[in-house]
Amino acid sequence: MAMNQPDNFDIQERQKSIRTKGRQSQPINCQADSIAGCVSQRACVYCGARVVLNPVTDAVHLVHGPIGCASYTWDIRGSLSSGSDLFRYSFSTDLREEDIIFGGERKLTRCIDELAERYHPQVMLVYSTCIVGVIGDDLEAICRKASLQHGIKVIPVQSSGFSGNKSDGYRVACEVLLRMIATPEDVPRQAHHLNYLGDFNLAGEAWIIRGYLQEMGIHVNVAFTGDSSYETLRTAPTASLNIIQCAGSMGYMAKRMQEIYGIPFLNISFLGLEDTVESLRRISAFFGDPLIASRTEALIQREMAIYGPTIQNYRRRLQGKKAAIFVGGGFKAISLIKQFRELGMEVVMVGTQTGQPEEYDTIHQLVSDGTVVLDDANPSELERFMLEQGADLLVGGVKERPLAFKLGRAFIDHNHERKHPLSGFTGAANFAREVEETVCSPVWKYLDK
Ligand code: SF4
Repeated sequence: MAMNQPDNFDIQERQKSIRTKGRQSQPINCQADSIAGCVSQRACVYCGARVVLNPVTDAVHLVHGPIGCASYTWDIRGSLSSGSDLFRYSFSTDLREEDIIFGGERKLTRCIDELAERYHPQVMLVYSTCIVGVIGDDLEAICRKASLQHGIKVIPVQSSGFSGNKSDGYRVACEVLLRMIATPEDVPRQAHHLNYLGDFNLAGEAWIIRGYLQEMGIHVNVAFTGDSSYETLRTAPTASLNIIQCAGSMGYMAKRMQEIYGIPFLNISFLGLEDTVESLRRISAFFGDPLIASRTEALIQREMAIYGPTIQNYRRRLQGKKAAIFVGGGFKAISLIKQFRELGMEVVMVGTQTGQPEEYDTIHQLVSDGTVVLDDANPSELERFMLEQGADLLVGGVKERPLAFKLGRAFIDHNHERKHPLSGFTGAANFAREVEETVCSPVWKYLDK
């Protein structure tokens, strides 16, 4: 018998997490657990931890759990390495029914031993998954013993999927990184050295930004975690500044590094021309060095002369088109709103998986009346608001792609799977070209919307 399914928007608890600017004035409900009965687009704790730690290039990433959790294998993710390729594997203990009944500790120990002997890594990260949290394998004790036996860092990542949401996974990853960079004594600070937090070197994005900073006379100790290694991560405490691209995943890390090492931090963004220019100037101002300031202005002038007219060309084709955004963090959503504004496009729907209250305040200020803002959305809501708001394009990740295409809408991948850079001046031009190609594709006229 067919049943009448309620629309997800009819689930009363969800209404607090959906706001239309100009119609509802109460702050949006965010940073809360997902509502039972909704299929959240949000990822699990393990996924949050893995996404942050995976680009540590010379680490063995060992997933203690069923094989399905170990899906980050060879090149599904777009992080690039200038050194080791070890991170591109995804090792798993492949827990089966028998292990669940009798415990997986012996199997885990055997896996660690085998990997240590075969690959001789300096660091091994052992991820806990849902079932490991349920059966209670003692990862901490096993890793401690293995560290002593093999003379390497074997660090547990306590990321059982059910123990929270993706944001909790970010925090778990930051705790692991803090363990990796810990120094027994105070280290001297190096002038004009910084760490670049929240860039995962997708398609070489961290290399683009490193190039700009080098030209300004600033050295990047390490990016967290794009193209990082155990050795480069351990140079982090000597930096004079932390800059943060992805505040959702790395805001906690920056705050802890300020407490422990006294390193101040700046939230920046290299998405879009406007934010890139502003971020470079803010970094330059922090160091207060006239030579850095003059190099920064020369760089901005040169790049804007190249990419400013390119963006204007795309703007002529895109003016008046409508965009919907659903991404992981609030900071990226804010930059994307500005980037669509640069392209003359109106943002009609914007949502995030893990946005924070102050980020939603900024989003609220940036968007026009009538824009729908939603936290921790589900597919039903995304489809509904894309249609109601008349979006021509959705920008999101791999889980959102089929939603857009099924509705006959253009789509842009802005997640870790992509293979082309969207950061900096060159990334802004790539983004504009991709938006134009998908929104203006002739294919849409053959669809019956
Ligand atoms: S929710 Fe649990 S089972 Fe699913 S991927 Fe995350 S850790 Fe694995």
